Amino acid sequence: MILLDRAVHLDADADEHPQAALDLAAHQVDLVLESVGADRADVNAVGLGIPAPVTLDGRIGSPTLLPAWADLVPQEELASRLDSLPVRVDNDANLGALAEHAWGAGRACADLVYVKLATGIRADIVVDGRLYRGSAGTAGELGHVTLDARGPLCRCGNRGCVELTAGGRALLSQARVSHPGLKDLDELVALAVRGDPGCRRLLSDAGRHLGIALGGMLNLINPDRIVVGGFAYAPSLLLEPIQHGLAETAMSAAVGAVDVVTADLGARASALGAVALALGVDRR
Ligand SMILES: [Zn+2]
Repeated sequence: MILLDRAVHLDADADEHPQAALDLAAHQVDLVLESVGADRADVNAVGLGIPAPVTLDGRIGSPTLLPAWADLVPQEELASRLDSLPVRVDNDANLGALAEHAWGAGRACADLVYVKLATGIRADIVVDGRLYRGSAGTAGELGHVTLDARGPLCRCGNRGCVELTAGGRALLSQARVSHPGLKDLDELVALAVRGDPGCRRLLSDAGRHLGIALGGMLNLINPDRIVVGGFAYAPSLLLEPIQHGLAETAMSAAVGAVDVVTADLGARASALGAVALALGVDRR
């Protein structure tokens, strides 16, 4: 049973100010406990999601993606702020996959891919009911799969990554050519929903490119279901283009065997996954 659900926006950019972000996270834990009449002694474990690849020893797996966090062990940092309560940490999209598999659109699915669309793009993999993390713990970086080896340089240091055509930053920068005052992805999606041809085209192309990259995963792991989540992109606008992209690169038997569906848990997926992690649903 969920006793309380609380979300706050950071004043500072968490990418560049990890200490402030971790201070805020610890403060939120205390506020939530106070609101439900509990204290730290009542807590079995705290789950923490980080929007970057997290290695099996709890570090950030690609320092170029989140440089200010490179020398931190977020698990230890948060635990030190909470009287050494047990803290379990994972990538936020891994957590979304755990939650969708346990309680959402991936229920009763043995093998699924959970795609999280936001500023970055992840495709996290559940095989035989267990999250697949890979040997270093960084599996699932769909955004940094190469679509064009001669393409533009990506922030990860490689060229032509999926993120450069389908990631939030790329979409916003392209959309601002015709909509210079565009504020964020939500506004871009709203314009697309209202029929703006440029924004619709951007989302449609993004979906096709995602489908092309996901087609490789279909060929390799042949999942039952692809669950498309991440609140910023209005997944329903992308499902058809994703299917077109899949058909371009995956074997027809694999395409025929997979359902592509929108996620059930929305923006709460990662937080619920952190609960699943803290409960030990998927021991790493
Ligand atoms: Zn990249």
